[in-house]
Amino acid sequence: MLRKVSGQATGVINVSEKTIAMQNKERYLAEGKKIPTCANQGCDNNVIVRDWKYYSFKHVCSNCKKREQKGLPMRPGVVSYKKTFCENKDGRLEFVCPVSLKFQLPNGVLHGDHLDGNHENNKMENLQTLCSICHHIKGKQSGDFDSASKGRTLS
Ligand SMILES: [Zn+2]
Ligand SMILES: [Zn+2]
Repeated sequence: MLRKVSGQATGVINVSEKTIAMQNKERYLAEGKKIPTCANQGCDNNVIVRDWKYYSFKHVCSNCKKREQKGLPMRPGVVSYKKTFCENKDGRLEFVCPVSLKFQLPNGVLHGDHLDGNHENNKMENLQTLCSICHHIKGKQSGDFDSASKGRTLS
């Protein structure tokens, strides 16, 4: 099990954040773990690593991300995992999404969410699309955001 390495220096050892990130990366790869592949169907690229310090990975690869940001279509054969609406329309989070289906949400407020909480499990069936309101409420309920802000641990 990998423990979180705190960025707070104890006063004795002063390891820079960059070094922690590099150590984490080396350790991760040394354990034979692979960087998750892009969540989009038909794309096998590695995802963008947001921050090794927290083992924080994006859902998609840099190519797909760029297309998404520019509003370009996916490459041929690639299907975006992300829906164009909040899937909590069906009340799966035990409350129903307050945003009208008629209101077209911009891509930026639609978030990909891992059903099992494992940010490395990018299988289609493990991903759902939530609007930022529903995602926020879910995060508060599950404590997701606590771990995101403090840094996740791998076990
Ligand atoms: Zn991709
Ligand atoms: Zn919603």
